[in-house]
Amino acid sequence: MRWHRSLIPTLREDPAEAEAISHRLMVRAGLVRQLAAGIYVYLPAGLRVLDKVTAIIRQEMNAIGGQELTMPVLQPAEIWQQSGRWEAIGGEMFRLKDRNQRDMCLGMTHEEVVAWLAAREIRSYRDLPQVWYQIQTKERDEARPRSGVLRTREFLMKDSYTLDPDQVALDKSYNDHKGAYCRIFDRCGVRYVVVDSDPGMMGGSGSHEFMAPSAAGEDEVALCDSCGYAANVELARGVPAPAPAPAWTLREVATPEARTIAEVCALLGIEPALTIKSLVFVGAEGPVLALVRGDHALHERKLARALRGEARPAHAGEVHEQLGAPAGFVGPVKVSGVTRIVADESLRQGSYVAGANREGYHLTGVVAGRDFQCEWADLQAVLPGEACPSCGAALRVERVIEVGNIFKLGTKYSVPLGAVYLDEHGRERPIVMGSYGIGPARIAAAAVEQRHDADGIVWPWNIAPFQVHLIPVASREAVQAAAAEDIYRELVAAGFEVLLDDRDERAGVKFKDADLLGVPIRVTVGQGFVREGLVEIRERATRRERKVPRAEVLATLRTVAGEVAGG
Ligand code: ATP
Ligand code: MG
Repeated sequence: MRWHRSLIPTLREDPAEAEAISHRLMVRAGLVRQLAAGIYVYLPAGLRVLDKVTAIIRQEMNAIGGQELTMPVLQPAEIWQQSGRWEAIGGEMFRLKDRNQRDMCLGMTHEEVVAWLAAREIRSYRDLPQVWYQIQTKERDEARPRSGVLRTREFLMKDSYTLDPDQVALDKSYNDHKGAYCRIFDRCGVRYVVVDSDPGMMGGSGSHEFMAPSAAGEDEVALCDSCGYAANVELARGVPAPAPAPAWTLREVATPEARTIAEVCALLGIEPALTIKSLVFVGAEGPVLALVRGDHALHERKLARALRGEARPAHAGEVHEQLGAPAGFVGPVKVSGVTRIVADESLRQGSYVAGANREGYHLTGVVAGRDFQCEWADLQAVLPGEACPSCGAALRVERVIEVGNIFKLGTKYSVPLGAVYLDEHGRERPIVMGSYGIGPARIAAAAVEQRHDADGIVWPWNIAPFQVHLIPVASREAVQAAAAEDIYRELVAAGFEVLLDDRDERAGVKFKDADLLGVPIRVTVGQGFVREGLVEIRERATRRERKVPRAEVLATLRTVAGEVAGG
């Protein structure tokens, strides 16, 4: 490709609103432009990256028997009403009406369409298993579209669906996908960990997420370097150090103006691990009291799982009105006005300070089970340094980008949509489904997050927009321009993907743009060529340079490409 006829609008300055590194660099390198919040144009070089990622995905899906098809973005409400998700999904779904006032939506995922199709096309066990996939646009009205292409409202997804006769067969389809995903991320040059995850709104019996470590991530995982334990913090359970156990009796103490854990601890001269943090949430059935140890934080997803539904933090006014005491003084003993009390497992043992449900007072010596009854659940957000639940070593907590996930759906969609088959004995059975997603744009952005330096992107070989960036230092100089043209033809004929910077720009601009765009190998034709016949070959990642005679350019490039692609 010749730059002077291409649309690669690089920018010197960071875009004002961009926080994530990948967002800044992808806009500056001329890969994408934002049309509206979370809606992006992919410019030619950006599309080349996406196409490389999807080509890898396609190969790996085909290798496990995947059959590519494509399903509509525009969908009738009926199938979503049948699965129950028309009601269950909130503002994330784009809904609209057609000209006859029929409810429609834009597909955010395709389990319903797959189950609908399976209900019509699959008859007997002989038709199973099936692996169907598409690489297609999804529409989601994300609450916080941010971080460039990491979270957009319109995005490409490879989603695949497996149809199996039973759980054992599903396990095999699932493991095939797990292997394919690992190969996809390996080939795309993205570092990742595979973690246990919470199936959430997908439902089903098991799921894993593929997480790329990066500060720009919105998820956190707990990792054990000693035994390999890895889980989303939504599920991870560390073993906290036990709280000290003072010999307290249950009694009320005056704590005027001490509302926060820190204030109560300062007043009573105790550490936060000796207190109970009492938090009021509003769930579907009304106010709920959630309890964690004072030195711990509550994880809202864990609470939602314990309650089997979402809950929001109560406003200060609501707390006072419903429980009869201000937020800083509520506690589990003789509390009124809540429908449920859910406590974190770590409070089963020990004796604590908790709010007395009376303004200006706390109780010391509160013991769960004796002084109050509650439901037990895992509510606490795992902290770095807590003991690994499987081996006891210290856990690490790392920020990650979710780049893919896989779910065992079971019969959650096949039953309501009537996707059944006849088994060997002629009995009707529901098809057992799996569902598997991957975001090509997230893979690209995660690669940028993980591989960049102060000057720009450092693309992994397999997903780089070009393999070679060829620069005649002075395009107007006939000898340089002719040599560059000649090398361009030779490299293209040899199968390299080459960007020829034939713009009439200063050398500094060309070099800066080359570093920004991050093509793995730069080939420069400059004064060294005019004087000594030498061409410079430079690796973007290591900045290693070699100067070779014109005749050796192709052979040297093959060697360097082999090294760069392998490393
Ligand atoms: P998240 O928790 O980040 O919202 P999700 O669980 O909703 O992700 P899935 O519905 O399972 O994601 O989608 C599968 C894959 O599609 C994700 O792993 C991710 O790579 C990609 N993806 C999901 N939402 C977006 C988005 N808004 N923008 C870009 N890619 C996305
Ligand atoms: Mg989502």
